[in-house]
Order: sequence, then structure tokens, then C-alpha cells
Amino acid sequence: MPTFSTPAILLRRSSYGDYDLIVTLLSLDKGKLTVIAKNAKKSRKRFPPGLLELFSLLHIECRNPQGRGMIALQEAELENPFSGIRGNIMKTSYASYWAELVNIWLEEGKEQARLYHLLQYCLESLDAGAIGNEELNIIFQLGFLNFSGMSPDFSECGKCHKKIDEIKGGPLFFELAKGGILCQGCSSNSLSPLNLTRGTVKQLLWVQENDLKTAVRLKFSQAALTEGFKFLEKFIVFHIGKEPKSLKFLRNLRLRTP
Ligand SMILES: [Zn+2]
Repeated sequence: MPTFSTPAILLRRSSYGDYDLIVTLLSLDKGKLTVIAKNAKKSRKRFPPGLLELFSLLHIECRNPQGRGMIALQEAELENPFSGIRGNIMKTSYASYWAELVNIWLEEGKEQARLYHLLQYCLESLDAGAIGNEELNIIFQLGFLNFSGMSPDFSECGKCHKKIDEIKGGPLFFELAKGGILCQGCSSNSLSPLNLTRGTVKQLLWVQENDLKTAVRLKFSQAALTEGFKFLEKFIVFHIGKEPKSLKFLRNLRLRTP
């Protein structure tokens, strides 16, 4: 791939030497890419301040003439700076969490168009404030888990396969290690099942079973909303094996925000 251009969302940036930046992006055409922006810290004409910022939506042009070594970022155009997100610390925390998840989980160079569209949609909706932060956090996390092949199974008991509507009475249980719900009988042998309200499980299942445009129209009850996104955060941390730094920050921020 000598030169190519693609839409891309910036996931991470770090300094490299005195003048350069290393930038990781989720691109529409080539999945996750790590590129070097030569002289980005000096050349304000090519890379003006505010351009190569976390979760900016860009159109990038890259060059890798020999097809080996690091890909060079030649040009970037800012499609959306998401100023509505940047001006709000809570929204910035959500966007940072989603970007970090994608960066942690994805391998380089594998096309992930569905995940790209999901991230772009969630950032645009967060920026515009058209959909609540917590609703978007549920929608992003469920989509991320789905596209990563880690979807929690809310449809039936993971052991006896009784469908959720056939499971009678009481709360439902969820076993993180098995990745699915359990009925009361099957949960008795489980080491540390989590309790989940039936209403929450049904709402999460409904989001899973519908496309994005339909899913965002679901009205969550406040209780299901809170239980839902907290459960998904726990589930993700368990499956990726660590707590993303930005999630730790987000959780602390919530504690301090009434
Ligand atoms: Zn069962």
C-alpha cells in the first residue's frame, strides 16, 4: 500500500522524540492503524493545533512506499472536532473510554467497518446531546462486545437452556465466566453469580436484537439504565482482563458528580 486515504477516528497519540507524534487511529478502510506524524510538533501548517486530538474525526492520507516500516501520516483533514464533547468533562470521559476500549482490543490492520460506524455514530450523538450519555454507553458497549465476539447471552439460561420468558420468578443471575444468564436452579452451583433485574436483562436483550437506529429509540427506566451500563462495564473488564484507565477515571467522576 504505497499511498492511501481513509476516514479515521483518533484513538491515541503520544510524543516520539522532539518533533514527531505517534498516532493510533480506527480507520474505516484499514481498521486500526498506528502511524507516525513527522514534525507534527513543529509543522503547524501541516498539522495545526486541535487537529490530531483524541477522538477527532479525520480524513487522513498516508504513505508507506516500501510497504514496510512505519506508515507515515502525510495529511489530515478535520471532519469533526466534536467540540460539544470536549467542552464537557463527563462526555469527554465517555468518549475516552470508548476510544481506549477499541485501542486495547483491536489488532492492527484488520478492517472493522461496523465498529468504525458504531464509534462514529456514538461520538456524533454524544457531541450533539441528542441521546443521553448513559444510553449511548450501553449501546456502544453492547455493539463493541458483539463485533468482538464477546456478546453476553441474555436470551436463555446458559446451563439448562430455558428461554428467558420460561424462567419463572425472582431475579436472574449472570455468571461472568460463562458469559450468560442462569436460572435460579442452575445458579446454585455457580461460584459468584451477579444479580440482574429481569427488566434490565430484557432491555439489554432488546438493544442486542435491534439495529442501531431502532435501539436508540428505546426508553430505559433509570434503574435499568444504571444497572445496565454498570453491568456491561464489569463484564468488559472481566473479559479484557484489565480496567481501562479511562474507565477508572469515569467511575471516579461519577462518584463526585451528583
Ligand atoms: Zn437453568
